[in-house]
Amino acid sequence: MNNRKTSFGFMPDGREVFSFIIESANGAKAEILTYGGILNSMIVPDKDGNLRDVLIGFDTLEGHLKYSDYQGMLVGPYANRIAGGKVPVGDKVYQAECNENGVTCLHGGADYSHAVWEGEFVGDNAVRLTYVSPDGKCGFPGNIENEVTYTLSDDNALSIHYKSVSDKDTVVNLTNHAYFNLNGYDGGTIENHILQIEADYFTPIDERDIPTGEIRAVRNTPFDFRTAHAIGDEINADDDQIAQGKGYDHNYIINNSDNTVRYCAEAYSPETNIVLTVSTDMPGVQLYTGNFLSGNIGKGGKPVGERTGFCLETQFYPDTPNHPEFPSCVLKTGDVYDRTTVFAFSVKE
Ligand code: BGC
Repeated sequence: MNNRKTSFGFMPDGREVFSFIIESANGAKAEILTYGGILNSMIVPDKDGNLRDVLIGFDTLEGHLKYSDYQGMLVGPYANRIAGGKVPVGDKVYQAECNENGVTCLHGGADYSHAVWEGEFVGDNAVRLTYVSPDGKCGFPGNIENEVTYTLSDDNALSIHYKSVSDKDTVVNLTNHAYFNLNGYDGGTIENHILQIEADYFTPIDERDIPTGEIRAVRNTPFDFRTAHAIGDEINADDDQIAQGKGYDHNYIINNSDNTVRYCAEAYSPETNIVLTVSTDMPGVQLYTGNFLSGNIGKGGKPVGERTGFCLETQFYPDTPNHPEFPSCVLKTGDVYDRTTVFAFSVKE
């Protein structure tokens, strides 16, 4: 094992950021940063045994600070959107920061996703990050103590284990916002990737990208990935929901979700034969096809354009605090938020 911890630079306020690299016995390598808890690179073998970094993002801290669209970040305390930033918990309604056009709270407001975490190796193949989100930060109640552990197995599966406790009843919905490109970080459009999602239903969105409350069958819509097909097949379809997302930017309801880790999606690149298999114990997964990426200078100095990465953000449904009918994201004092998502990599024969 070749664990490595190195300096990754300094925040504008002088705090040092570290990079942690963990390796598997089968050639995979994951790099995790203490800034944003970012999964910065994920290097896996392709069909010819060559190593490829399958995450788009940035080589430097300056790149993340200047251009980030949440590349690889640990997003919280509430990933995705909350309408009007309204967070009812028990008999109180908290006001979270509306950092998106002043009308929605996106990815928990300005702070959590951009926090600098403490990091340490745990054994040979894991990195544990910790961060306390202070009571009232971006409007969210409770001192929320978070511990996230990235573990890379020898069969090239990266598991992300999230654990949080709070000293006030609050809402918690944590995800990782990695943008994958299984052709390689400089592999161009992801529209040629073959995708399967284990979901019969999705949650349509309104003009604010907030779920309308409808639970819609994917059948006979461009959202049907029950049988694997190319992401690009219907990404430009004449469809109101596609138009609203400028492509896919929607939450899928994972079939038979029961709080245990289960398979939810698989993506595959016909160029490299690299396969990504996603499993989670969360009830939903956001498919975001990088429709709003543009103009960023990414890894290797290459531009990061529209649809050059896709995200599978495992999560509670967007705006759950305002939809009591959705699976609950409330974390009560004394309870432990304990969730796991696994990104497993393999090569199709
Ligand atoms: C959202 C997109 C947003 C992106 C970057 C995704 O989770 O669904 O609408 O553009 O994050 O903020």
